[in-house]
Amino acid sequence: MSESRWTGPSFEERMATVEFRVASRPHIAVDSDVCRSCTTKACVTACPANLFAPTADGGILFNYEQCFECGTCYMVCNSEEAITWTYPDGGYGVVFRHG
Ligand code: SF4
Ligand code: SF4
Repeated sequence: MSESRWTGPSFEERMATVEFRVASRPHIAVDSDVCRSCTTKACVTACPANLFAPTADGGILFNYEQCFECGTCYMVCNSEEAITWTYPDGGYGVVFRHG
């Protein structure tokens, strides 16, 4: 049986090509008051950029600046009201470069 291996760039090399053009308007807002009653805190482990941090009072601290705009947090969120999700304004947000 032949074994196939990934011979392309490593994850770290790929991440080095990602650039964030940070907009002044947060494109995702998290209502920490809603998060306080959340039992899963699924966003904390699901976000590939680790942008959700649990706070001591049971809420969530969220930082939008290095968001990949993947939508995972919105999909796994335990509550309909906790996350307000939009794309960044034109010209801002994550830039994936190839090469
Ligand atoms: S999963 Fe949703 S409700 Fe729960 S902590 Fe994360 S953002 Fe808040
Ligand atoms: S859209 Fe993706 S990268 Fe951005 S905060 Fe949600 S899970 Fe994290």
